[in-house]
Amino acid sequence: MNSVQRIAGYDRYETAADVYKFARDVLTSQTTYLVTGENFPDALAVGSLAAKQSAGIVMTQRAYLPGSTYSVLSGPTDSPMNVVIIGGLAVVTDQIKYIVEGTVQPPYLLAGVTIVVDPGHGGPDTGAIGATGTYEKNNTLAVGLNLASLLRSAGARVILTRSTDVTPAVGTYSELSDLQARTKIANDQNADLYISLHNDAFSNPAVGGTSTYYSSASPVTAQSKALADSIQSELVKVIALNDRGVKDAAFYVIKNTKMPAVLVEIGFISNPTEEQLLGSSDFQRKAALGVYRGILRFKGY
Ligand SMILES: [Zn+2]
Repeated sequence: MNSVQRIAGYDRYETAADVYKFARDVLTSQTTYLVTGENFPDALAVGSLAAKQSAGIVMTQRAYLPGSTYSVLSGPTDSPMNVVIIGGLAVVTDQIKYIVEGTVQPPYLLAGVTIVVDPGHGGPDTGAIGATGTYEKNNTLAVGLNLASLLRSAGARVILTRSTDVTPAVGTYSELSDLQARTKIANDQNADLYISLHNDAFSNPAVGGTSTYYSSASPVTAQSKALADSIQSELVKVIALNDRGVKDAAFYVIKNTKMPAVLVEIGFISNPTEEQLLGSSDFQRKAALGVYRGILRFKGY
């Protein structure tokens, strides 16, 4: 008996992406060709070349990169892909080039997804304080604002629990009223995801690294853990701190929110090297990018 398989996507773009994924293990070239799916001869022109090089081919529309193609080109990979676009601007626009380069986010990726971004602490609560006097609340806010902007450019509806140095607590401030307010925002808005951002601290200044927490007391534990796994692995790839792993903890905000929820400890403010990084705007942008990529990965990209 012969073994017969069919590879068929929903449309030609998805089919090309599925073929790529099917053959990925034997594609030895780092090059992937991106051709128009609207003009068949262009794909033919590059077909024999790609075959000779053991390179992949995926397809795009002129000004719209289909999600199936995006997931191939942006997929988590340890060695970056060398993408060659076939055809001039009349065939594939620069917008597509920017999306492939990663400088522009496709606006449809997170369309319809509501994400609560929760920069930890704020207002009267400084959070942990570093040896040189830096505040956790300032570091988490900067990462939160960067993250919100990335998520919005990918089409998400983003709600920040705070966008300035305030507490979201209503009435008299207490740690509990502050945490209750953050949780209530997410639950009232029927958010799809909840991301709380923090800096870790410990008595031993040598301890450092990144951890992501989910709660087994969450009503959607499995999804929260999957989200934590994705964020932790993508974040560590980008910021390259010690990988302390994904952990279960009953933190108030990830226990009392109804949607997949995580609490990210980006690094240790009690570690002098990490304190400096956590306060730098370049590192804050990278941390936001890592969390963002983790969210995309969780969503299947
Ligand atoms: Zn904190």
